[in-house]
Amino acid sequence: MAQKIQAVRGMNDVLPAESQQWEYFETVLRGWLHDYGYANIRTPIVEPTPLFVRSIGEVTDIVEKEMYSFEDKLNGDPLTLRPEGTAGTLRAVVEHNLLYNTTQKLWYMGPMYRHERPQKGRYRQFHQIGVEALGMAGPDIDAEIIAMTADLWQRLGLAASVQLEINSLGNKEERAAHREALIAYLEKHVDILDEDGKRRLYSNPLRVLDTKNPALQDMANNAPRLADYLGDTSRAHYEGWKAMISALGIPFVENPRLVRGLDYYNLSVFEWVTTELGAQGTVCAGGRYDGLIEQLGGKPAPGIGFGMGMERVLLLLAEKGLLPARRGADVFIVNQGAGAAAYAMQLAQSLRAAGFSVVQNMGDGSFKSQMKKADGSGALVALIIGENEVATAQVAIKPLRAEAAQETVAAADVVAAVSRFKS
Ligand code: ATP
Ligand code: MG
Repeated sequence: MAQKIQAVRGMNDVLPAESQQWEYFETVLRGWLHDYGYANIRTPIVEPTPLFVRSIGEVTDIVEKEMYSFEDKLNGDPLTLRPEGTAGTLRAVVEHNLLYNTTQKLWYMGPMYRHERPQKGRYRQFHQIGVEALGMAGPDIDAEIIAMTADLWQRLGLAASVQLEINSLGNKEERAAHREALIAYLEKHVDILDEDGKRRLYSNPLRVLDTKNPALQDMANNAPRLADYLGDTSRAHYEGWKAMISALGIPFVENPRLVRGLDYYNLSVFEWVTTELGAQGTVCAGGRYDGLIEQLGGKPAPGIGFGMGMERVLLLLAEKGLLPARRGADVFIVNQGAGAAAYAMQLAQSLRAAGFSVVQNMGDGSFKSQMKKADGSGALVALIIGENEVATAQVAIKPLRAEAAQETVAAADVVAAVSRFKS
């Protein structure tokens, strides 16, 4: 036998038993996104590499070491598998002039690619659902986005499992002033900084505060806080945002060290975190990126968005027992003997036309083995068709989930008869 080929490490197949759970989650998501007025946008998985370098930032984990980048074999163009959804979405918005005299509320869903060490809740191909609200300066839209995400946890039954953390990153000038103080502070502690910290001291000092290294927590907690450098306008935005979240009754924690791993954020930033997934605790993260559209060549316009790791939410749903049980077809058709297959197929088509899902046994097999399949299929009823039923234009109906006796009805009455078992 030839050697088997395996999937790329960190990239997972979603098999039928699990794909039903994805479909359930996606159905909830689509209804939720519609309820908040978001429209779907679908952009390519491959984008020009400079798009990500320019938007996410040169000295970020993603651009420094996580991107799947390659050259187009034919013309040498630098290309990258998208590591996140905002850059491509905004590239499309600018390219197609979608913000001309208007605002946009957009959502995307699909696979993202990052070369990370695979572990629970962290993969090399993973999926994000994300939204971008464009052309609105906030803080009202910032608050609506919090209301919206909080609502999703309610819909999924996860409200008690996630906590909201928020912060403000101010504007460029405020970050520059804070940066100076932060660098001075970090220089005083340079001897305890780890390799990442030393490397980031001058290139991206804010990110040093984002460290998960336990030995650096005290140092990071006592560092100068960006919040203390906010001017009146930024402060008012932050206070306005917080007041609206409070008015909605949504609990939150202010985390002055919340800075996000991508460079494009300013003002409002937030994360929904859980303590129930180990180290991979952030299920949804986002914030405002008012300079990004201009940075990508568009007319300046404010924006805010978030990305949610779908695998992490599904893990949480599974852990809490909140995923629906597997659903089989409504009807399984057992058939055997001359003419039974063609007759069964006609009945199956009329049942499908009436709104039932139907699985017909294909190929031969004893009644007994077919009945076993019917039982295992999760169907509500089995229809049983032998030569006798074909000859008399009838069909036997055996309820599989309800306490009721098998009965025989005319083929013409099969839809009405099956309907009694579907609530
Ligand atoms: P983390 O701190 O966990 O590395 P991040 O800050 O890199 O997350 P974002 O770029 O903000 O993550 O992406 C938004 C969300 O996408 C994350 O909050 C998380 O739920 C999910 N996510 C990010 N990277 C991965 C991954 N490699 N595998 C699975 N989900 C991921
Ligand atoms: Mg990361």
